Amino acid sequence: MDAFSDPNIETVVIMSSAQVGKTEILNNVIGYHVSQDPSPMLVVQPTLDMAQTWSKDRLAPMLRDTPILQGLVKDPRARDSGNTTLHKIFPGGHITACGANSPSSLASRPVRLVLCDEVDRYPVSAGSEGDPVSLARKRATTFWNRKIGLFSTPTNKANSRIETAFEESDKRFFYVPCLHCGHKQVLKWAQVRWEPEQPETAAYACAECGTLWTDAERVRSIRQGEWVATSTSRRVAGFHLSALYSPWGNLEAGVIEFLEAKKQPATLRVWVNTFLGEPWEEQGDAVDDYAVAEHREDWGEMVPKEVLMLTAGVDVQDDRLEVEIVGWGRDEESWSH
Ligand SMILES: [Zn+2]
Repeated sequence: MDAFSDPNIETVVIMSSAQVGKTEILNNVIGYHVSQDPSPMLVVQPTLDMAQTWSKDRLAPMLRDTPILQGLVKDPRARDSGNTTLHKIFPGGHITACGANSPSSLASRPVRLVLCDEVDRYPVSAGSEGDPVSLARKRATTFWNRKIGLFSTPTNKANSRIETAFEESDKRFFYVPCLHCGHKQVLKWAQVRWEPEQPETAAYACAECGTLWTDAERVRSIRQGEWVATSTSRRVAGFHLSALYSPWGNLEAGVIEFLEAKKQPATLRVWVNTFLGEPWEEQGDAVDDYAVAEHREDWGEMVPKEVLMLTAGVDVQDDRLEVEIVGWGRDEESWSH
């Protein structure tokens, strides 16, 4: 939220797990710009339906229940308000909500703030008009003090808009101090420890001193944490946050969720996206050469019984022929000679 009112920052990227307050941040930015710095704003949701739902369920209650905002945006149900669910006027600006699947709603009037929620769930193209995020950004080109907000839980690594945007940002991570040794660290799932079949024993192990933190200690160290940029970028601030930082969740629940999710690739993928806030890399997309190399073994000169077929490849060099004979078994297992 501070980054949104920092004049040196134009684009704010938030890649996070689900349920850590992303949409609340988006709403607060809107509230600030209704009350303190009135501006025209565009909010993009994945679909027009979701834009309606967000406006009714999230925006309307904030405008109704926040004392400083009361009366600034007229209720659409009021007579002559001129306001609708998707377009609300207030003194000095307006809030327009639209769907990334609807090119006509994206091509609306000029706006100073463009807030794109759940960008990894946008269609590749808005109708035949092209990338919805680029279309939305164009609405702000005439404002020198424009702000672009991109928010999302990531999906697939191969086509994650939010990860691409985060990679181009200054990549901020939240460092928290160990209450025992003071070491500042980014919370990682690999540091979560538990006894087999006993999620209730879950604790966080400090990456430096190894002391196990209770959940209360984890929350206390988060309160003393700070954002640290790990890259440089002109005017793009990027933030990553996983559910390990959530003050609402606890490690035991996280472990239970993980043990259930890891039974199936499809559910593990959802867990990686929504709990770790990381994009999912499809297995088979990338092969770890070291892991493959570790499976090598010396088998002597005999053709092992698992071999179903032999192939020979010959490479003609200037002074010799290099021959490799390979035995092939099931699942592409191979024996080379
Ligand atoms: Zn420590």
